[in-house]
Amino acid sequence: MKITMVDLHGQYERIREEINSAIQEVLDTTAFINGPQVKTFARHLAEYNQIEHVIPCANGTDALQIALMALGLQPGDEVIVPVHTYVATAEVIALLHLEPVFVDCVADRFTIDVTKIEEKITPRTKAIVPVHLYGQCADMASLMEIARRHNLYVVEDTAQAIGATYTFRNGHKQKAGCIGDIGTTSFFPSKNLGCYGDGGALFIRDNQLAERAHMIANHGQEIKYHHDIVGCNSRLDTLQAAILDVKLKYLDEYTAARNQVADRYDKELASVKGIILPQRANDSTHVFHQYTIRVENHRRDELKDYLMQQGIPSMIYYPIPLHLQKAYTKEGQGKGTFPVAEQLSEEVLSLPMHTEMKPEEQEYIIEKIHAFFNR
Ligand SMILES: *Cc1c(COP(=O)(O)O)cnc(C)c1O
Repeated sequence: MKITMVDLHGQYERIREEINSAIQEVLDTTAFINGPQVKTFARHLAEYNQIEHVIPCANGTDALQIALMALGLQPGDEVIVPVHTYVATAEVIALLHLEPVFVDCVADRFTIDVTKIEEKITPRTKAIVPVHLYGQCADMASLMEIARRHNLYVVEDTAQAIGATYTFRNGHKQKAGCIGDIGTTSFFPSKNLGCYGDGGALFIRDNQLAERAHMIANHGQEIKYHHDIVGCNSRLDTLQAAILDVKLKYLDEYTAARNQVADRYDKELASVKGIILPQRANDSTHVFHQYTIRVENHRRDELKDYLMQQGIPSMIYYPIPLHLQKAYTKEGQGKGTFPVAEQLSEEVLSLPMHTEMKPEEQEYIIEKIHAFFNR
């Protein structure tokens, strides 16, 4: 029995024939760049998300950058981001000479603490970038109210939550990434909808904004060699689009499989004292990109090492909050500035979670976690 964090090979094996023929079709036509599969996949994903436009691009980081460029943000503009997230979210803000403004997180949901956003808003604030971390939406109802009140753009980093559904207080439902002005996602192989290399996309409702984002991803041109705005080169390969178009059909099955694994962890680990299981929000479904527990009493690293010795991998997403990363330190924002994120960085542990998990594998993981706390 070999336990892994993800099992991309097992997932491929189950759809091998379909994937191979989709790849062969691209090879036979040699339309490697902007082949018809790119448009087809974008249309299918737009239908899945019930959104007007899906604009494919090269990766999830580019998607964030293109989003901020499309909104026309100017150097010095401030963008609010959660401090407990993957670096890409803040990186693109800094790259564009915008100012990342960090906000602490809520411990049970792991996402941005919406009650701490307004105190960070200044006349230069232009946008908020919530991150739907680990596969569950941030508190978007409250966040959208704040954004509306202060006339701010909202860009949802949906790299970990594609397929999640958010329900507003009036019962209205929307897919993650389709609530704010722009949603961005990543098709990195281990993401919930992963390709076999790099890939990403933007979700946009507004026609003009979508046109701008599309142009930016394509050297700022609509007509070849007519560059109306400054853009970049960020394309989704035809091969990747062909693979993704096959895998999109299975996304809901994959989400269900992940939820089954999560339900089992929930049930079998509920009695373990010393860990806190991930909370299920009542306004968002969870697609369990990660099943992340919190380990109390400073025993996280000890548990991680113990599991490793038993042949069980686990991961820390993320070990250092952004304000304590060298590249993002700021005067007056040392240790203690964002206590919840700092605590999370010392407590979080993501357990193996993937679509191919066998019951006996999970049984073994659960047994060893019990064994650790019963020693
Ligand atoms: C993976 C990820 C990204 C970046 O995606 P890439 O495709 O690797 O560039 C951005 N934000 C979050 C939260 C992610 O998990």
